[in-house]
Amino acid sequence: MEIDQAEIERRLQHFHDVARRAGVKFTHQRLEIFRAVASSVEHPSAEAVYRGVRASMPTVSLDTVYRTLWLLTDLGLLTTLGPRQDSVRFDANLAQHHHYRCVKCGMVRDFESSELDDLPIPDTVRRFGDIACAQVVVQGVCADCKTAAGDDDAFTAAGGYRERDATEMDRGGGRFRRIGPVQAQEGDV
Ligand SMILES: [Zn+2]
Ligand SMILES: [Zn+2]
Repeated sequence: MEIDQAEIERRLQHFHDVARRAGVKFTHQRLEIFRAVASSVEHPSAEAVYRGVRASMPTVSLDTVYRTLWLLTDLGLLTTLGPRQDSVRFDANLAQHHHYRCVKCGMVRDFESSELDDLPIPDTVRRFGDIACAQVVVQGVCADCKTAAGDDDAFTAAGGYRERDATEMDRGGGRFRRIGPVQAQEGDV
């Protein structure tokens, strides 16, 4: 599941258009940092972008990567999953979409659903303020993690994963819960 070349080109063209309109210089460094997010399905963190661009730009600093990612976010070229914080993940897919997130390894992938796009927003939410968009985050243990766990069918059936995931979420400072504006709550029932 990779992003096709035409979509990457479209994102890069959008980057040029927006940067030009905003009067922001599109330096080689900024372009490469944007490209790292735009050509990935991973929704990379700043650290992951940093690791990715260091090969072609050995002198770039993590601080520069951070500042560039926030600049691109402020320009509307990227969105983030969850609130503004160090461990935030960046997303160059500006089309309406939803996310699947693995609660064990943090893998995030996009998916589209016209049914979820039309999800009615309860009045209770409107009372909090304006609504810009609503994204659903479906959480669970991904296929790779299930394979890595080996013979886990009995374990899952016994509800073991739920307990173990809760422990890991607590250890991570609850960061798995701060992913997006709308959370799938099935796991809590
Ligand atoms: Zn996983
Ligand atoms: Zn996404």
